[in-house]
Amino acid sequence: MTNPLIQAYRKPALYVALPSGGKYYNEKPKMSVDGELAIYSMTARDELISKTPDALFNGEATFSLISSCAPDIGDPREMPVNDLMVVLIAIRLASYGDSIGVDIRCPECDHLNQLAVSTNALLSTVSENTSVDNVTLKNDFKISCKPYTLADRTLLQIQRIKQTKLIDSLSDATLTEEERQVRFGETFIEIADITVSLIANAITQVKPPEGEIVQEAELILEWLKSITKTDYDQIRTIVEDLSDNNIDTNFDATCQSCEHNWKTTIDLDIANFFAG
Ligand SMILES: [Zn+2]
Repeated sequence: MTNPLIQAYRKPALYVALPSGGKYYNEKPKMSVDGELAIYSMTARDELISKTPDALFNGEATFSLISSCAPDIGDPREMPVNDLMVVLIAIRLASYGDSIGVDIRCPECDHLNQLAVSTNALLSTVSENTSVDNVTLKNDFKISCKPYTLADRTLLQIQRIKQTKLIDSLSDATLTEEERQVRFGETFIEIADITVSLIANAITQVKPPEGEIVQEAELILEWLKSITKTDYDQIRTIVEDLSDNNIDTNFDATCQSCEHNWKTTIDLDIANFFAG
């Protein structure tokens, strides 16, 4: 059921091409005739959610923002991660205009420059990710892959938080050396398990040299835990290349203090992306 008030009030602010080209979604997003996705400006509610410090580290806030501003994506959890930054930049452009401020320290004089980067220019660099999505291992197993999803990305963030907590807990002076060892071991295994399950999630099917194609997630995960590091790394490289957002973040900077010119990259940090 669509609300006629909302339909009349909210119109797309712009259209954006996706690095995934709309592939790898369970439910392909509705696109324009030019194959682009409609982006709407943020609502007051979206702004509140996105301005909460670290809100976007929380998966739910990201899912909510995408549902609201890119409603033609059926389920943001299933969105390939390479589309995330492009959609977020487009939402920012639709809501706050073209310029995004970045802090870059001059390598010559140490001056902290506040430079403006054009989000339009960033988006214009984006091209479709055409990496191969399959690999044949040495023993002739054929693996088909897809990029990580946003849900996977949330798992990855949990993994990072665990890593930080691990480092914190190791410096806890009240722990005995034995307790420290146990805690380290447990967290290490958890992190390894998450890493493997992320790759398993990105495998759509495995075809052994003889026998049937396997698509069951559980069987693939179990198999993945049993393969060699060489094979595992080959698959991981395919998944990581597929997950690349193809945004060219190279930037020619000029220091406002000493006029030094240098090439740098812009660090697009989602955590403070919508702060201003
Ligand atoms: Zn300088």
